[in-house]
Amino acid sequence: MFTAVGALAIIMIALPAGHELGHYLTAQGFHVPVEDTTWTLLGRTPPSVQYRDASVSAQAWIAAGGVFLPTTLGVLVLLLWLRLSAKVPRAIRLLWLMLGFGYALNGAGPTLDLATGRFSHLQRLAELYHLGRVEVAGLHLAPLVVVLCITGLVGFHQFRERLRDQKRAEPIGSANAASSRR
Ligand SMILES: [Zn+2]
Repeated sequence: MFTAVGALAIIMIALPAGHELGHYLTAQGFHVPVEDTTWTLLGRTPPSVQYRDASVSAQAWIAAGGVFLPTTLGVLVLLLWLRLSAKVPRAIRLLWLMLGFGYALNGAGPTLDLATGRFSHLQRLAELYHLGRVEVAGLHLAPLVVVLCITGLVGFHQFRERLRDQKRAEPIGSANAASSRR
């Protein structure tokens, strides 16, 4: 229970912080002055990055940065987790995993926006490059597909690890079973 609450808390922190970091860094990349940033859900205002004097294309990319950057960051964190996390204690391992998913889950946002008809973070980018309906749908679905792929990889990794643990435990179990039969 404690672990589940902790995991949820990390996701709730990493998700908006990663999202705003994406806006913030993209604004920095375009040399757009950022006036104010709220990183978490605990601030006076909802998580947001306030900026001024941005061109139309900068605005489109700053909005999209809130999706692309945290999703990429999350995938990198999770790839590192797949490669290295066996070496750290269990609690840190879980923290690390939740941090990765907290960032990566930003990739699901545009698909949700598309499904619910809300204004999406990728809309301006689609308008900027005059994308057709199919391309717009592809643009919105692509981050989700990336999230699903990395989730599948993590799931497969866990499954394989469990199988390995079972196999390690098996010889003792079967020896016991054999001796009890005698
Ligand atoms: Zn945003």
